[in-house]
Amino acid sequence: MGVHNAVADLPAMKTNPKYIFFTDFDGTITLQDSNDTLTDNIGYGHEKRRQGNLDCLADRVSFRDSFRDMMDSVKLPYDQCMKYLVDNIKLDPGFKEFFQWSLANNIPVVVLSSGMEPIIKALLEKLVGPDASKMQVLGNYVGARPGKSINQEGGWQIEFRHPESGFGHDKSIELRKYSSLPADERPVMFYAGDGVSDLSAARETDLLFAKKGHDLISYCAREDVPFTVFEDWSNILTKCKAIVEGKATVKEAATEGYEAYKRGDAGINVAVAK
Ligand SMILES: [Mg+2]
Repeated sequence: MGVHNAVADLPAMKTNPKYIFFTDFDGTITLQDSNDTLTDNIGYGHEKRRQGNLDCLADRVSFRDSFRDMMDSVKLPYDQCMKYLVDNIKLDPGFKEFFQWSLANNIPVVVLSSGMEPIIKALLEKLVGPDASKMQVLGNYVGARPGKSINQEGGWQIEFRHPESGFGHDKSIELRKYSSLPADERPVMFYAGDGVSDLSAARETDLLFAKKGHDLISYCAREDVPFTVFEDWSNILTKCKAIVEGKATVKEAATEGYEAYKRGDAGINVAVAK
């Protein structure tokens, strides 16, 4: 495939951006993870769900299999799940300002999620408003179980974007389409995430923002993946502005982030994380 076709396949490249911000959705753009919220309150509960996360971090189970388990424990009809989440999930307090800044500065935001696209789109529309449609969303899907419809009790199941991959949605596949562009077209790539659904993305971008006190930091510390810590999107906005305005380099931001982590500012005990 020629270069022209490679770019045509990537909507975020249409405006020839110098920077693209890729991001996780659940627990990153939102304060709560919608899938955890469903599992903890409607499915098999917090304790079992948390054990699934820890097993995934420790490589005892794939993200795909533990996540399917969680979703299988939620029997509520899909439309009621959507309503429950739209009523309960809150937006990160700094995200709207970041997003308006990104729109004004030709920095496309691309959501890469392990959640289901219909739920993500409904939440974004409610929380961000009409501009939300300017974000490309790539997630997993929902499908009906045999002989049922998704809006019946026990009627839906998660359908993975990459069913053959242990990640279910292998975020590196999309990210590599950009990182493999020729040097004069390749944008600087940012990524923000918080948890076990981000492991396939952690090594793929130029600057990784990992949420303070969450599982992605434990993983990065153990695997020596460079990252910078954020508490909310106002931290991300400050760092990105400095980079875009030429006051800091991506490399400096990453080094600074790692120093902060070593000082114990990442909300994770180094000895425990290792
Ligand atoms: Mg997340």
